[in-house]
Amino acid sequence: MAKYEPVIGLEVHVQLLTETKAFCSCANHFGSEPNTNVCPVCLGLPGALPVLNAKAVEFAALASMALNCTVRQRSIFARKNYFYPDLPKGYQISQFDKPLAENGWIDVPTADGGTKRIGITRLHMEEDAGKSLHDGFSDSATRTYLDLNRCGTPLAEIVSEPDIRTPDEAFEYLTRLKEILLYTGVSDCNMEEGSLRCDANVSVRLKGAPKFGTKAEVKNVNSFRFIRAALEYEIERQIEVIESGNRVVQETRLWNAHEGRTYSMRSKEQAHDYRYFPEPDLPPLIVSAEFQTEIRKRMPELPEARRARMIAAYELNEKDAHTLTTSREFADRFEAAAKAAKSPRRVANLLLSELGGRLKALDLEIEQSPVSMAGVVLAADLLEEDKISSKQLKQLFDTCFEKSEDFPAVYEREKPQQITDASAIEAMIDQVIAANPKQVEQYRGGKKTVAGFFVGQVMKASKGQANPTLLNELVAKKLEG
Ligand code: ADP
Ligand code: ZN
Ligand code: MG
Repeated sequence: MAKYEPVIGLEVHVQLLTETKAFCSCANHFGSEPNTNVCPVCLGLPGALPVLNAKAVEFAALASMALNCTVRQRSIFARKNYFYPDLPKGYQISQFDKPLAENGWIDVPTADGGTKRIGITRLHMEEDAGKSLHDGFSDSATRTYLDLNRCGTPLAEIVSEPDIRTPDEAFEYLTRLKEILLYTGVSDCNMEEGSLRCDANVSVRLKGAPKFGTKAEVKNVNSFRFIRAALEYEIERQIEVIESGNRVVQETRLWNAHEGRTYSMRSKEQAHDYRYFPEPDLPPLIVSAEFQTEIRKRMPELPEARRARMIAAYELNEKDAHTLTTSREFADRFEAAAKAAKSPRRVANLLLSELGGRLKALDLEIEQSPVSMAGVVLAADLLEEDKISSKQLKQLFDTCFEKSEDFPAVYEREKPQQITDASAIEAMIDQVIAANPKQVEQYRGGKKTVAGFFVGQVMKASKGQANPTLLNELVAKKLEG
């Protein structure tokens, strides 16, 4: 393996979340009845003229800036000509030699804890094609159906430099890219619905070789995990081809998730096969410096910056900060709660463990949680003020989920008892100490962590009702004494 070095470059298409299509006023909506969101423009009927959607430009420019690209003040739309049944116009409007934006980057975390900068060659605007439906009809064995609703959907294509060296780096790059696109709100990045699609280019070369090897392009991969798997497979395959004395051929390959392998689909067309030429029906796209300044004002705080700020503001570790910022909405909820609560750290803990764990087990989203954020704040405050133990909190949360009730209501009704009478707690401690001489010996021999065992035992004996602070104090006192 160390003899060869993989080289990877990714091409990502994202559908932009505009109300209408790129060049007509048809609804840009996934899941409509087939062939209902169409008009002469997106069907390419003779004489119909495209008009560029300003919102699509804003989104594409905002994404470009979030990806550290330079936005061109003047970019050009071109026709990319090819025949396909789901492309009634016979060409796709795209950008070719003058794309909207160039020379960006994304920093990805590396295995050794550092970061690596992956270059972004370009971000250009284009329109999507329709969809061929090969399955699901009674006569699908002999017919293909067409749904042209997707024709003319605005896309941004983001092309990386061949800077990626491992399938893991590719995975990280895609994860960061998706996060940034979600934060800027330009796309929902829903891979199942096809609003984010990735083609992976990969080659291998002898380590230290001056030139890249011949690449294959892998298509049809519908999750980041599969992209990583497809790249791993493809790297192995290419190495075997070379080791057996053959040459890798430039081609497009399809990933088969069931078999966990790629298949050759076609040898790669050269770019000139598309006969690109400037789109005669659209003027050059001008994104002036003033307009760029306007767009930049709408830039939200991006994930990396937000994580760094949150780590400092709420005493979070790196891992927790990542989990809390996976979506902008979730991070917003956390921050609102953290500000309202007495201890942000407790809010984070509750969200990550008690609430997060239960939601995950039931496959629920945070929006579907019976415990509201106000409930989380109250729970965190009760813990912080020592009014309930963590055991009691667990029981209350259990009730919330069983009965689908919010935390404040359940807490008011159940008002768990607390034992704050020191002598009662001491009596329980004495019993536990008498029953566990071995642990007492360990503690007195210097193993102070055994105190936790006693606290746990007494808490259990008190049915979770002992006041935690008092209990901790008294256990230490008794064991020392
Ligand atoms: P094509 O003309 O085949 O579309 P491009 O030069 O436009 O190729 O590159 C497409 C993608 O492939 C980019 O993401 C680029 O980084 C990547 N790429 C280019 N050459 C290689 C290579 N030899 N190995 C791996 N990836 C490559
Ligand atoms: Zn239309
Ligand atoms: Mg290309």
